[in-house]
Amino acid sequence: MRRAIACGLSLVLLGGITAIARSIAPKVDAEKIRAHVKYLASDELEGRGMNQKGGDAAAEYIAAQFKSYGLKPAGEQGTYFQNVPMVAVQTLPSTTFAFAPKSGAPLELKALDDYVTTNERQTESAQIDAPIVYVGYGIEAPEYHWDDYKGYDLKGKVALLFVNEPTSTDEKFFKGKALTYYGRWTYKYEETARRGAVATLIIHRTELASYPWGVVRNSWGGEKSFLKLDGTPKLEAASWIQEGVARKLVATAGLDLDKLFQDAQSPNFKPVPLNVNLEARIVSSVRPFNSRNVLGMVQGMNAAKNKEAVLYTAHYDHFGIDKSKPAGANIYHGAVDNATGCGILLELARVWAETKPAPQRSILFAAVTAEEQGLLGSEYLGKHVDELPVKPVLDLNYDALAPLGIPEEVEVTGAERTTFYPTVEEVAKRFSLTIKPDAQPEAGHYYRSDHFSLGRVGIPAFSVSPGMKFQGHDEAWGLAQAKDYVEHRYHQPSDEYNPGMDFRGDALMAEFGYALGLKAADAASAPQWLPGDEFAPKKASGR
Ligand SMILES: [Zn+2]
Repeated sequence: MRRAIACGLSLVLLGGITAIARSIAPKVDAEKIRAHVKYLASDELEGRGMNQKGGDAAAEYIAAQFKSYGLKPAGEQGTYFQNVPMVAVQTLPSTTFAFAPKSGAPLELKALDDYVTTNERQTESAQIDAPIVYVGYGIEAPEYHWDDYKGYDLKGKVALLFVNEPTSTDEKFFKGKALTYYGRWTYKYEETARRGAVATLIIHRTELASYPWGVVRNSWGGEKSFLKLDGTPKLEAASWIQEGVARKLVATAGLDLDKLFQDAQSPNFKPVPLNVNLEARIVSSVRPFNSRNVLGMVQGMNAAKNKEAVLYTAHYDHFGIDKSKPAGANIYHGAVDNATGCGILLELARVWAETKPAPQRSILFAAVTAEEQGLLGSEYLGKHVDELPVKPVLDLNYDALAPLGIPEEVEVTGAERTTFYPTVEEVAKRFSLTIKPDAQPEAGHYYRSDHFSLGRVGIPAFSVSPGMKFQGHDEAWGLAQAKDYVEHRYHQPSDEYNPGMDFRGDALMAEFGYALGLKAADAASAPQWLPGDEFAPKKASGR
C-alpha cells in the first residue's frame, strides 16, 4: 500500500467527464524527512528555543525550504512569517497570597507548596482584595443543559472551582467518560475571565487533574509565556491551590469540601459565596518578545474554491538550551518532538508543490511556534485566521511521530466528530491502516495539541499519528517503545536524532495526510464539525 498515492492520482476519463488528471504524482521520500529531522535536531539548532538563536534558525530554515519548493509566501507583508507577539511572565517571591475571613486571622499561603499563581494580565504588580465564590466546576454548557453560574455575577470576584467536569457514563452527557474542553483547566481560566473574575483558584485533586501537585508546581513555578494581550479577558491571579488548602479555606466559611464537591455534581448547583476574601499582591517580572509562525501555500486551481485551503500544521519550537545545565548536556534537541512533524510538513510541502495540476482548493502549510508554552503559536494562527490569504477548512496536524518503522494503525482522534470521517475511514482502508481509537479519552489529549487551536475556532482539525502496532512487531513492542520514550527522552535533552531511526512510517503518515488533503481539497463541499459538537457553530454566546 505504499503506492497508494500514485494509484489515487491516476488519470480518469469517464463518459466525457474529466476527473482531475494529475500528470505528476510525486512520492513522499522517507530519507528527505530524515534529513530535515537530522538537521532540525542537531546541536547547531540549539533545541529550537523560542526567542533564542536556534528557534530563529529553525524558522529561517523552514521558510527557505518552502521557498525552494516554490510555495507562495502566506505570512505578513509578502513574507513567509507571521509575527507572534508574546510576553513572558514570572511570579516573583515577593508575591503574597492570603485568605481573609470576615472575622478572624487571615490564612497566609506558601508559594509553590500551597498555591501557584500567574498574572495573565501581564502587569508587574496587581493588588487583589475580593470575595471568593465557590462555582462548582465553573461550567456553562448549553448543549448539555448545564450552567453552574445560574446568572451569578462574577465581576470583580474570585472563583473557586474544581478542574474536570460532572462525572458521567452517558455518552450524550459531557461525552461520557471522555473529557470535553469544559473539563480542562484552560477553559476554567478562560470562562471565569470572560465573566469578569479577577482571580480563579482551581482546587487540585490528583485524580481529577490526572497528575500530582508536583506537576502543577513544576509547570507553573517558573516563567510562563502568553500571547500579548489582545482584548481577550484575563485573570490577575490564575491559580491552583492544594486540596488541603481548599479544605481549610471552605472550613473557615463553615463548609465541607467533600459536600461542596458532591453538590457540584447536580445540575441544580448554585454558586456559594464564602464570606472570605482573597487578599493578594501579585508581583511579576514581565518580558515582551516576538516569535514567528512560518506560512507557505500552494494555490488551488479552481478560482471559485481556492480561497479555501487544506491546512497542515506542525510545531517547530522546543525548549532550547537550558543554561543552568552543563554545556554538552543542555540542548533540548527535540528530534521526535517535533522535528519529525516538521520533516513531514516540509516533505508534504515539497510533494504538494510538485503536484500538477494543483487541487481545487489551496494547500496551506504552517510551522507554528510556542507549542511547548501552551499551543500559543497555533492559538495566534487560529485567532488571526481571517488575515490569512486563504481560509482553512481542515487542519491536519503532525506532532511527535516516533520513527519506528511501518505502522499498521493510525490515530486520528477528533476526525470522528466531523463530516470528513467517512473519507478518513475510506483512505485508511486504502492504506491498510486500522483506525486506533483514543486509548485514554478521559485524559483529553485532543485539547493538548496544536490542531485544537484551529478546532476551537470552528475548523475541523485533528492530528495524524501512528498507533502502537508496527509491521513485524506486536502491540506490546509498540507500547514498550512508547514507554521507553516517555521515560528516557520525552522533554529531555536525550530526545536526539540517531541513524537507527526508521522514517518509513513517518513517510507513510505523510502519504496518508496527503491522500486526505487531496480528498478535502477536491471535495464538493468543505468538511464540517458534526451538528451538536462542541466546536460546531452554535447560537449560545458563552464560548
Ligand atoms: Zn513537547
